[in-house]
Amino acid sequence: MSRLLDRLQSEMAALDAQQLRRSRHIAETACAPEQALTLAGTSQPRTMLGFSSNDYLGLAAHPALAAAWAEGAALYGTGSGGSHLIQGHSRAHSQLEERLAAWMSPFIPEARSLFFCTGYMANLAVLSALGGADAVIFSEALNHASLIDGARLAKARVVRYAHCDMAALDAQLAACDAPVKLIVSDAVFSMDGHIAPVADLLALAERHDAWLVIDDAHGFGVLGATGRGVLQALGLRSQRLVLVGTLGKAAGVAGAFVAAHRTVVDYLVQRARPYIFTTAAPPAVAHALLASLTLIEGEEGAQRRLRLQARIAQLRLGLQAVLPADGSAWLAPSPTAIQPLMLGDNARAMRVTAQLDALGIRVGAIRPPTVPAGTARLRIALSASHSEADVARLVDAVGQALAQPLMKPAKEPA
Ligand SMILES: *Cc1c(COP(=O)(O)O)cnc(C)c1O
Repeated sequence: MSRLLDRLQSEMAALDAQQLRRSRHIAETACAPEQALTLAGTSQPRTMLGFSSNDYLGLAAHPALAAAWAEGAALYGTGSGGSHLIQGHSRAHSQLEERLAAWMSPFIPEARSLFFCTGYMANLAVLSALGGADAVIFSEALNHASLIDGARLAKARVVRYAHCDMAALDAQLAACDAPVKLIVSDAVFSMDGHIAPVADLLALAERHDAWLVIDDAHGFGVLGATGRGVLQALGLRSQRLVLVGTLGKAAGVAGAFVAAHRTVVDYLVQRARPYIFTTAAPPAVAHALLASLTLIEGEEGAQRRLRLQARIAQLRLGLQAVLPADGSAWLAPSPTAIQPLMLGDNARAMRVTAQLDALGIRVGAIRPPTVPAGTARLRIALSASHSEADVARLVDAVGQALAQPLMKPAKEPA
């Protein structure tokens, strides 16, 4: 019929054969532990207990944020009407940027912040704008796809360094005489949950006259005494830091920000194409985010962080007791809400998720190319809104799924 369609169909058939075909479930209700979902290939919604959202503090369906969103829409309407440089930059965007700059200024002297529609765009913006032709980007091996794509978009040369290998990075930096060096890393590895050695990365940046770009997508709101993220948790402070935080995960809304020295941020406003050539996010989003920041830094945020920590401890202790003794499934070390249960091959990961599905529990199976081949896993994501009983139910179900003779491989609907 058409060579393009033939090619697309044969590539998708290959995905099917490797159990790598992705499909989407439809959420019928708000993001919460108990959520009505119409699973792919079915037509009836089912209420499932979910462990796959990034809503770590349980704010995504918080009534105060929905109210702030509605108030923002009443104040500013629904659409921003344009890009930030033309006319879409509202008072709500500006207030949010000032608030985030104040949040980050203990860690980044003379900080300013810049709000983006998504974290993906923020990462493209930072790396493409700062990574000019005279720059070298030193990119952590497990970095998020948005950082990898940002590095691709940059004119800079890109050097990958091995996962958390500070000696290798030290040597690579020493061997480089480029005038601009950018070290780029996730703060919390999104498929693994452990925290990057950010203090060591910063020491290397200082020693080698480099800059450190940290993507705190999974730390912002969760880490640190008042939720300001990895820099607060580790007590770091430097002018060489460029921090990207996302606002659609723990903050429960949408968007992202970059915080950095004011000259860096002012430059991004002039030169970052993913900032300039797009319609500003609805001002109501920024207005809702102001309410989210108030929750995060207040008593409620503190309580939610404590509750999340308790669930993490409960899950780890509980799972250790039900994992098979042969080591064929194991829980990777992680102090964060992201708890990967390593299963190895794709088919096994799919079978275990199918068994959990049958028990009314949703956990994401993460397969290549998102993670390296042979490291398929269940990515269990916890939230402060999970109850103790929710986590107990998950532990029990995982124990059953791993103990039972495995069911026939789940065939994913086309
Ligand atoms: C989710 C994520 C992003 C992208 O953020 P969005 O706001 O969802 O576009 C960037 N980096 C990491 C590490 C992430 O996990």
